[in-house]
Amino acid sequence: MFGQGLLKGLEITWGRMLGKKQTVKYPFEKIEMFPRFHGRFQLDVDKCIACGLCANACPNKVIQMEKQKVDNKQYLTKYVMRIEYCLFCGLCVESCNKDALKFSSVIDMNQYRREWVRLTLVDRPAPESKKTPEEAPAETAKEQAAAGKAAPGKEG
Ligand code: SF4
Ligand code: SF4
Repeated sequence: MFGQGLLKGLEITWGRMLGKKQTVKYPFEKIEMFPRFHGRFQLDVDKCIACGLCANACPNKVIQMEKQKVDNKQYLTKYVMRIEYCLFCGLCVESCNKDALKFSSVIDMNQYRREWVRLTLVDRPAPESKKTPEEAPAETAKEQAAAGKAAPGKEG
């Protein structure tokens, strides 16, 4: 029938105009995001072992981290994400086998200046070693000996 397409189109237009509202007055009103939405990153520092798997998995080298060895454990001192280069692909979150890095449903990450976009999730000093000054050199000697064994090509 002539004009059938036009009538179908108008039906959709009038349906949307008179039907239930689909939009909200952001930022005063917000919609609930899906549970698997890729929003702002969250890092649980107590779970993180500073292994660096997330940083290695990132194709855009977004994650910059610094760590320090304290009493035979790696301690995360800095974790900065250059979000302006992030694809929100989720490879970093998937690679974390400690469940420390996650996405939240927070979408408000817009900033007025480019340099403010960077996301600093951790920036803290490493704690003091609990070892006595006598124990520390002995540990260092042990570590050096172990490293020497592990690299036989260096001998001779
Ligand atoms: S979501 Fe993708 S691009 Fe963004 S930090 Fe993780 S791995 Fe990198
Ligand atoms: S992969 Fe997980 S545990 Fe390892 S450094 Fe990244 S957030 Fe921390």
